[in-house]
Amino acid sequence: MSDLFVSLTAPNGRKYDQPTGLFINNEFVKSEKGELIESINPTDETPIVSVHAASANDVDTAVSAARAAYKSPSWRSIPPTERGALMYTLASLVDTHAETLATIETWDNGKPYSVALNEDVAEVAGTLRYYAGYADKLHGQVIDTGPDKLAYTLREPLGVCGQIIPWNYPLAMAAWKLGPALAAGNTVVLKAAEQTPLSVLYFATLIKEAGFPPGVVNILNGVGKEAGAALASHLDVDKIAFTGSTATGRQIMKMAAVNMKNITLETGGKSPLLVFDDADLEQAVKWAHVGIMSNMGQICTATSRVLVQEGVYEKFVALFKEQVKTVSKVGDPFQEETFQGPQVTKAQYEKVLSYIESGKSEGATLTTGGEAHKDVDGSGKGFFISPTVFTDVRDDMKIYREEVFGPFVVIASFKSEEEALRRANDTTYGLGSAVFTQDITKAHRVARGIEAGMVWINSSNDSDFRIPFGGVKQSGIGRELGEAGLAAYTNAKAIHVNLGTRL
Ligand code: NAD
Repeated sequence: MSDLFVSLTAPNGRKYDQPTGLFINNEFVKSEKGELIESINPTDETPIVSVHAASANDVDTAVSAARAAYKSPSWRSIPPTERGALMYTLASLVDTHAETLATIETWDNGKPYSVALNEDVAEVAGTLRYYAGYADKLHGQVIDTGPDKLAYTLREPLGVCGQIIPWNYPLAMAAWKLGPALAAGNTVVLKAAEQTPLSVLYFATLIKEAGFPPGVVNILNGVGKEAGAALASHLDVDKIAFTGSTATGRQIMKMAAVNMKNITLETGGKSPLLVFDDADLEQAVKWAHVGIMSNMGQICTATSRVLVQEGVYEKFVALFKEQVKTVSKVGDPFQEETFQGPQVTKAQYEKVLSYIESGKSEGATLTTGGEAHKDVDGSGKGFFISPTVFTDVRDDMKIYREEVFGPFVVIASFKSEEEALRRANDTTYGLGSAVFTQDITKAHRVARGIEAGMVWINSSNDSDFRIPFGGVKQSGIGRELGEAGLAAYTNAKAIHVNLGTRL
């Protein structure tokens, strides 16, 4: 085994070999400068392992590999059905290695193991299979423009795609981006988030095992400002796809402008969840809880702003508080009964705590939580935060307007449907939204009125690889998943054939 693999034993006893290099041309290599980033276990704050961090030159090497692969007959001339078959093989390898992948995800990110296994890793395999099926169903169109002309379109890949992913769903975000890119015949340089590189690097070993030609998928770890920026501004990258904060998304847009890259952005949110007087209140409470407290609240579509009609406001708050008490068990993410693990990093943990202070100082009512949760194993270690609920929140408060990205919800009351919609839309974001009512007409009317990329009626945070996912306003540009996600990785080339017009 090369010195770029380290034998590790995870907290749940699982042993595996962790790659630590940059995955370029199907091999793990050291970073040019030998710079390393240490991955920290957020549960007990101990270092797990150090991995190589790409420099701008390393990014350039990976882009060259992706360009060479894109031009190479071993990828360009592979029949689309075979391309799909490689993706099916990759999906099967994900199934085979599911427990190891989930173990690494939980160790590095802090999310509950059962969620990592049954939701995140399952999503990776599902997404890859879904897009594998598309590889040989990328149809152009024949468009009738009259008897003397034949016009048709070809769906062509874009070329070399740069993909920058965040730390909240490392494996799933990789699959959302790799699936459509590969199905359409592109090649890829994917940069993992520096906070959570380990599962994606292990996934890279499966790409080689599945039989993808060298250079088709290159996976780098590296710091955003250096490796991410080098990728976003690279002149030989044709597309950049990014998921992360709105502030970074804005910078990526600027960098992508250097060569007018095709761009897809999935950024932040402060998604509203509206509960009307006529809602099934118990269901509304349960979905609202799942919508903000799952994944430690680190969800871009988290329904973090709950607006409840005044007739049921008090009851909703009481039931929600009870739900948090009974369901949001904070603890070691490898323990089966744990609902909420630690925040991903010290920085995120401190960010959430600072919003708690802000809520208190701005005069919102702290209904439950609102502190570091330090008694998980008695060591005082780990980035745990008590699930936090602020009520009586005003629309001008920072905690009502800004994305907190933690187990942190604000609840306010409204009087009328018109007021609910106006306040739901009073935000620079437009990612998710949820509506709870038993009135079918009202449900659809409100769904139309909400400025968001996604609306859930009587649920929250549903996502499915067959359905387009993305936002409006400052929550992003373009769509991932579904057929729209595939379109984001192809060009429609128009071919005009003259059948007889003579000049
Ligand atoms: P971020 O947006 O800065 O990082 C996301 C990814 O972008 C990472 O891979 C990072 O390395 C890369 N990146 C960072 N700066 C870059 C740059 N200048 N050029 C190119 N790539 C760059 O997010 P963060 O700093 O880790 O988290 C900050 C906040 O962002 C969170 O508190 C949360 O509010 C939000 N966030 C949102 C999502 C989401 O899914 N929408 C995911 C993660 C974080």
